Amino acid sequence: MRQRAKEQDANIRRTNFEPVEENFTYEQAKLEAQRCLHCKNPQCVKGCPVNINIPDFIKALKEDNIDKAGEIIRETSMLPSVCGRVCPQERQCEGKCILGIKSEPIAIGALERYVGDNTTAVIPEITPTGKRVAIVGSGCAGITAAADIRKAGHEVTVFEALHEFGGVLRYGIPPFRLPRNILDKEIDNLKSMGVKFEKNVIVGKSITLEQLKDDGFDAIFLCSGAGLPKMLGIPGENLNGVLSANEFLTRVNLMHANEQQTATPLRVGEKAAIIGGGNVAMDAARTAVRVGYKTVYIVYRRTEKELPARLEEIRHAKEEGVIFKFLLSPKEIIGENGYVRSMNFEICELGEPDESGRRSPIGTGEFLALEIDTIIVALGTGPNPIIQKSAKAEGIDFDVDRKGYFIVNPDTRETSIEHIYAGGDVAPIGESNAINAMGAGKKAAKAINEYLAKL
Ligand code: SF4
Repeated sequence: MRQRAKEQDANIRRTNFEPVEENFTYEQAKLEAQRCLHCKNPQCVKGCPVNINIPDFIKALKEDNIDKAGEIIRETSMLPSVCGRVCPQERQCEGKCILGIKSEPIAIGALERYVGDNTTAVIPEITPTGKRVAIVGSGCAGITAAADIRKAGHEVTVFEALHEFGGVLRYGIPPFRLPRNILDKEIDNLKSMGVKFEKNVIVGKSITLEQLKDDGFDAIFLCSGAGLPKMLGIPGENLNGVLSANEFLTRVNLMHANEQQTATPLRVGEKAAIIGGGNVAMDAARTAVRVGYKTVYIVYRRTEKELPARLEEIRHAKEEGVIFKFLLSPKEIIGENGYVRSMNFEICELGEPDESGRRSPIGTGEFLALEIDTIIVALGTGPNPIIQKSAKAEGIDFDVDRKGYFIVNPDTRETSIEHIYAGGDVAPIGESNAINAMGAGKKAAKAINEYLAKL
């Protein structure tokens, strides 16, 4: 039987930011590892974007050799504690596990997290090459690339625009999903390897790409994430009480705007509607519950079947009291004295599948109003416009049809300028998530190491 990690009671956890799930106990990890068949042709590995050797790390765990399990994972993934918590395993490795055909797949994510939390990366011997690499952004792609480039002996400096490191892992993902001590440990590992971190540096403003080159950086990896939120574009959007999920989560996660003595407090109302159905929408809704909203809705244009969020996040949100409203398309926000008072939605039904393969919502001409005082828009984000501006000045090519993402070689992440590479949400390929960003970081690091070897 598949092991399940113990969870905080939903009525208690909705009042705190402590982790929802505990880690597996030793006994649970052992029992779960023993279920693995160590397949000769492991489908789970094919489902992992960075191809972690899953059967071998589970085998090491089964044999009580947790340090070896940690080394096996870290050959391909520098962030096992993070990925074990935030990756959509049900659509990746676990979704392909052979055991899932007739029964339940191995809890690969929980085992990865168990190994990550209970082991520390071995600091490799580093032979300096004298070459220097600038990494712009300290999220998943940046951290992964930093480790692999540093291991090759190059000097690595990671520039972060915010005052703390970790990118979206820090400002976007709430601590009840990713405890901050776990993230700090991953960053500290890199510092121990000699990776330099500089915060409060906005590349494109504080320093340009040209200046980085003039400062002696031989290669640059752009991975500054998606900082530009998509908004609704409907009447009333400028009213007080309308926020992007990016702003809401950053203010709570990074600036602690929900705490009393903060310099920039959050105005917490009674009823919030989160517009969107992805993981960010779930994070925003569950955070809204925790900061004190009495009623929190998730409003989505399609049905529950089409929700793009992880099943686990949807379950957690429901358990914590979030109310789901389906087949509603936002039409207008109504205000009073400059503040949101209610929102009008058109009731939809589902038509034919669109290019995403999901059935498109079609308006019925009937409307519904919800009384709310806060609207949090979680419809996705576009690439950071500041770095784009600086990159444009350098002559880097963009894809104008795809929101202005950088055009990169998918295998090397090289842009149109030889020494500049890009990955993560500034040049996404496939689903935008932590493990795909790590995959991009690994590809860019490999290509940068090869490029520097030729200099
Ligand atoms: S597919 Fe499942 S059972 Fe087979 S090696 Fe991978 S985790 Fe183990």
